[in-house]
Amino acid sequence: MITTAPRGTQDVLPQESYKWHFIEGKLMDLARRYGFSEVRTPTFEHTGLFDRGVGDTTDIVQKEMYTFQDKGSRSITLRPEGTAGVARCVLEHGLLNNPLPLKLSYLINCFRYEKPQAGRFREFRQFGAEVFGSQDPAVDAEVIALVADIFTTLGISDIALELNSIGCPNCRPAYHEKLRAYFAQHIDSLCPTCRERLEKNPLRILDCKNDSCKEVAKGAPLGIDNLCGECADHFASLKERLTAMDIPFTVNPQIVRGLDYYTKTVFEFVSTSIGAQGTVCGGGRYDGLLETLGGPSTPAIGFAVGLQRLLAVMENDGASLGEPPACDIFLASIGQGASVEAQKLALRLRRAGLHAESDVQGRSLKAQMKYADKLGARYTVVLGDDEVKTGQIKLKRMDDGQVEETTLEALPALLCEK
Ligand code: ATP
Ligand code: MG
Repeated sequence: MITTAPRGTQDVLPQESYKWHFIEGKLMDLARRYGFSEVRTPTFEHTGLFDRGVGDTTDIVQKEMYTFQDKGSRSITLRPEGTAGVARCVLEHGLLNNPLPLKLSYLINCFRYEKPQAGRFREFRQFGAEVFGSQDPAVDAEVIALVADIFTTLGISDIALELNSIGCPNCRPAYHEKLRAYFAQHIDSLCPTCRERLEKNPLRILDCKNDSCKEVAKGAPLGIDNLCGECADHFASLKERLTAMDIPFTVNPQIVRGLDYYTKTVFEFVSTSIGAQGTVCGGGRYDGLLETLGGPSTPAIGFAVGLQRLLAVMENDGASLGEPPACDIFLASIGQGASVEAQKLALRLRRAGLHAESDVQGRSLKAQMKYADKLGARYTVVLGDDEVKTGQIKLKRMDDGQVEETTLEALPALLCEK
């Protein structure tokens, strides 16, 4: 047991980690170009934050949270998502006093007790971004443009934007009544959780993963047909802006998303290439969240991209994931004196920004060269007593065996140019 990672978790092995650096570097760079600053919040929060912030009728809160009592008898939860913690941080530090809109991004690990399967883990990584302080549909369009740009920049073509509007506190009560009336007729087909949701939050039933609930939900009245004038205008304006920016989308009236406090815009980016868990990104507007957490009424919108799913789509699409880092040079040595010089030279090369290795195990020259080969070193140099005395060395390019004469002194600068 102790030599096996817990179910639903993953090791990122050394030969894979460059892919994560590549993806995360691109994400952070794009977010920067769109004006987002990174925020880092704790891995765990008070459980109450998620009860309130995610909503106590959601699957996340009802079934998926890693909650425990700490030694001071506080109820603590490992974050199942990023938005609640970021919203808490914004309120705690008065970040809304900055010029608005406030744009924040984050890269985090999330924890959900789910049934592990392809694309669904118990610990997973998310990139997310949130904008606070504007209810203008232009902001919705900008946030969606960022996500669309992420996929384009990463070379993903097999992904589609699905959009919906789920209304606001003005239009929702009447819509909830219609949903209640509809689901009450089908109550026998609903799972026990959804029967409870019927009174409290019938919208949640539309997001249930239970097959029988899903079947019933197909015939339910649609939020999009029940929007108030303001929400309908907002949605129309968003669609207009997306069209103006050439960002293709389809309206999917079934999308409701997993948080209780979503209002108006909700969206997903879905891939068909990675099986059942095809939603790579989910997002939406949550104009009610900050007030729910005790802050001032503040409109906001955000999204989160699941990085394991993103990586799977990229691998499926044959998109570039960068290169595994290569060893620039291996410094072989013969004898104790040369070995010391090789180590000194490695130090200079590393300080010049190169990946240099020298023999640190007293191996034979043959064994050293074999090792250099396994490392995939681009160049090698052999240092013996003569090289140390004269400073003259032979730099060998490994892929074609070409040899170049140079000096110990000139090597770092020469290699930096290659
Ligand atoms: P799903 O409907 O697949 O359960 P969700 O609605 O619970 O997704 P969000 O809370 O919106 O997902 O999270 C945003 C993104 O995070 C998802 O689109 C997905 O890419 C990723 N994600 C969510 N849960 C998991 C998980 N258990 N394992 C891996 N990635 C996940
Ligand atoms: Mg989920």
